[in-house]
Amino acid sequence: MDVATAHARLSNAASSFLAGKHQLLIDGKWVEAKSGKRFDVFDPATGQAIAAVAEADAADVNEAVKAARRAFEEGRWSKISPQARSKLIWKLADLLEAHADEIAEIEALDNGKPIRDARHVDLPGSYEILRYMAGWATKINGDTITVSAPGDWHAYTLREPIGVVGQIIPWNFPLMMAAWKIAPALAAGCTIVLKPAEQTPLSAIRLGQLIQEAGFPDGVVNILTGFGETAGAALAAHPEVDKVAFTGSTEVGKLIVQAAAGNLKKVSLELGGKSPAIVFPDADMDVAIRGTSSAIFFNMGQCCTAGSRLYAHRRVFDRLMQGLAENAGKIKVGHGLDPETQLGPLVSDEQFRRVTGYLAAGRQQGARVVTGGERVGDAGYFVQPTVLANTRPDMSVVREEIFGPVVCAMPFDDDDLDRIARTANDTGYGLAASIWTRDLGIAHKLARCIKAGTVWINTHNFGDPALPFGGFKQSGWGREMGYEAIELYTEVKAVAAAL
Ligand code: NAP
Ligand code: MG
Repeated sequence: MDVATAHARLSNAASSFLAGKHQLLIDGKWVEAKSGKRFDVFDPATGQAIAAVAEADAADVNEAVKAARRAFEEGRWSKISPQARSKLIWKLADLLEAHADEIAEIEALDNGKPIRDARHVDLPGSYEILRYMAGWATKINGDTITVSAPGDWHAYTLREPIGVVGQIIPWNFPLMMAAWKIAPALAAGCTIVLKPAEQTPLSAIRLGQLIQEAGFPDGVVNILTGFGETAGAALAAHPEVDKVAFTGSTEVGKLIVQAAAGNLKKVSLELGGKSPAIVFPDADMDVAIRGTSSAIFFNMGQCCTAGSRLYAHRRVFDRLMQGLAENAGKIKVGHGLDPETQLGPLVSDEQFRRVTGYLAAGRQQGARVVTGGERVGDAGYFVQPTVLANTRPDMSVVREEIFGPVVCAMPFDDDDLDRIARTANDTGYGLAASIWTRDLGIAHKLARCIKAGTVWINTHNFGDPALPFGGFKQSGWGREMGYEAIELYTEVKAVAAAL
């Protein structure tokens, strides 16, 4: 399907959204940036501009933070009943679900991802976290505490919303990252300034429209499209922001920590990864081939948890390589809006150059291309699903996060779990890992030795709103999802009364 045909498939709802104004949401109103500036948004399948959005900078951040502060201090959100908060969050989930087809189109066009993934992963991943967190809104409690001091005491804890939160998100799952961020913050009673990634601002704007439609009080959620170096940096540094939550590169994560130091705002970080998939010789090979393939090729490898280092026992290594190559050859590459597409373009020219740069470096350092390794077509940012072998632990393709459909495969020979774990842990990251075996003893023993926030057994990239998610080492601070996410957005206050 050519691009014109793909765009012509947009529903009326998605087309009319695209034709809209795309402004900033501040204090319940859509406004232009104070500077009047706007920037273009591109279809990564063609490199063509599809819309222009307002470009917030520090001045707009200031307005949005003031609005969020007012909304918080006046108790428009934190002081309404937990049940009322829960109902509104649930209502937003219902609105997202009702508009899921339209928003999946917007997401596929803006990010490039296959529409079927947008519709069946990103959209449910967004409205279901809202529902899960809506449930927590009515269950955020303190404890009564028994103290040992002499006398008669009544001591207890209160769990209170942290206040105004700045949330900065990446482009790989634009709407879902927004939902993961706002859902627990809203449940806890915080007010929000959200900055989506410059590459993919559109679904966040649509989310803002639905937040308005749901009837959230003004200033509770403010949404600023803009650039990281200006709007993002101003948000991370703002003295009236009580907490900043960031998902993106480890490099920018470190800048966030520095920016947050000014007022020592609380910080949570979901950063990069270089996650191992470890295949034992007794694994169900069909399951392992399918699983390790989607571990790296899902979302064009643009997943922080992508299974980008593949360790397979020598006895099954060749079979796995053959299976992965066969699978890769069958993956249908195309425009995200084509319902047949399984692999879309990378998100941007910058990301395309980054990934092809790694491919060149890998080849130059002696990696063998088992399959893929090339650009697809000459327009847009398409890269073939790629498997590299003969890779060594010191190569940049093995050490650094590529964030593309490129896996480095390496055989192992022995059955010593400690040694296997040391190899898997030989990275500065610690986000996730997967273990492929029929021997559950091996699987659970190895799971304990892996230094990562998530370990999967005979699956990869599985998530659920109830499962805490985050990283060891340089993959981040804190855990999103589950009750742990509520903890990220609350402060604990101890109250002690001498009776
Ligand atoms: P990035 O720069 O870390 O972007 C993430 C978010 O941070 C975006 O909203 C970005 O804004 C913002 N940002 C950038 N500089 C900032 C600053 N100084 N202060 C505050 N916010 C700032 O990621 P990227 O450049 O898009 O991608 C680079 C690499 O990061 C990828 O190749 C991949 O390795 C990694 N990455 C990881 C994840 C993940 O989920 N862990 C997601 C995306 C990328 P703008 O986009 O507007 O500049
Ligand atoms: Mg950037």
